[in-house]
Amino acid sequence: PETKLPKVGTTIFTVMSQLAMEHGAVNLGQGFPDFDVPQRLVQALDRAMREGKNQYAPMTGIPALRQAIAAKTERCYGHRPDADTEVTVTSGASEAIFAAVLAVVRPGDEVIVLDPCYDCYEPAIDLAGGRAVHVPLDPATFAPDWAAIRAAVSPRTRMLMINSPHNPSGAMFTRQDIEQLTELLEGTHMWLLSDEVYEHIVFDGARHESVLRYPQLRQRAFVVSSFGKTYHCTGWKVGYCIAPPALSTEFRKVHQYNTFCTFAPAQWAFAEMIEAEPAHYDELGAFYQAKRDHFREQLLTTRLRPLPVPGGYFQLVDYSDVSDLDDVAFCRWLTVEKGVAAIPLSPFYESAPAGQRLARLCFAKNAQTLDAAIERLQKL
Ligand code: PMP
Ligand code: GLN
Repeated sequence: PETKLPKVGTTIFTVMSQLAMEHGAVNLGQGFPDFDVPQRLVQALDRAMREGKNQYAPMTGIPALRQAIAAKTERCYGHRPDADTEVTVTSGASEAIFAAVLAVVRPGDEVIVLDPCYDCYEPAIDLAGGRAVHVPLDPATFAPDWAAIRAAVSPRTRMLMINSPHNPSGAMFTRQDIEQLTELLEGTHMWLLSDEVYEHIVFDGARHESVLRYPQLRQRAFVVSSFGKTYHCTGWKVGYCIAPPALSTEFRKVHQYNTFCTFAPAQWAFAEMIEAEPAHYDELGAFYQAKRDHFREQLLTTRLRPLPVPGGYFQLVDYSDVSDLDDVAFCRWLTVEKGVAAIPLSPFYESAPAGQRLARLCFAKNAQTLDAAIERLQKL
């Protein structure tokens, strides 16, 4: 058939995980934890299945989970979304991103994305008949360039997509970014899609500037998150979208015919978990910060140069002291020849900065895994 997605092949995450497996490499590529999910969560899932909670959940998500999400949002960001009209449980953040884009983007619309950006954004825009307009983040700091974003806005711009903490760089929006964003959107008809899947993985006492904190922003935003990141269970694929009632109505029109509902037993498990262990959210930053600090300290014994990591669970490294290969070739070489899988940055761009020599390493791993990788990286 004539392809609707000519630019799409197999994702770099799949490609590198497969290569890692074939060559017995330590896999710091695809972003997923290699440690256990909280025991309470596993027990709650098991109990939900034994108790027969195995049939279709309500289309929008079970009430107990939507209420837990609303309450947790209020605790974290001082704003309580309405559990019935503003919170929708989805099959991962990916489904939420697709549903939001398909709900509001029409053929011919433009959607501004900030490069480097997560790889599922553009295919969603393409399938909706829209066009992604790529605006680069600052190549040194990965901060948004507000003048460039403003220059990219046109009468056709339907949506702006943002992601903080950012995959792949870990960069975070500041209060100033929020002010610039608010100013930019004022008087326009643009929707905002805020990908906040790493919302609870923030370091050094920084505050996550959720769009949900700001009335002028949340009134036009789809805010997307993922339990996969927060509870170390990326394979469960449960996430959610918070949006004002009118946007949620449109969002749910897509969701109800795409999946109808999300895996029911996990919804019961998350509802219980959020209520029973609210401290999990507050402790997650410290948990990952310890990993980040250990990993960075060890990286200093290698010829890779680590960039700052304000949030998320990825460490960017500059490898230009080791190799002059382009990033895709370098990551293949590192995996095949040196036994450590990493993710190149260029697949996150429409057009990556010439000569950029960066690779992404995931530190959501046990100490043994990280140490095994370091031992190999020391030999570069
Ligand atoms: N957005 C970003 C920035 C991500 O890193 C990921 C997962 N790696 C997703 C969305 C998708 O999340 P999920 O697995 O819950 O679909
Ligand atoms: N989001 C994960 C990452 O950035 C990958 C998810 C996937 O493999 N689709 O590594």
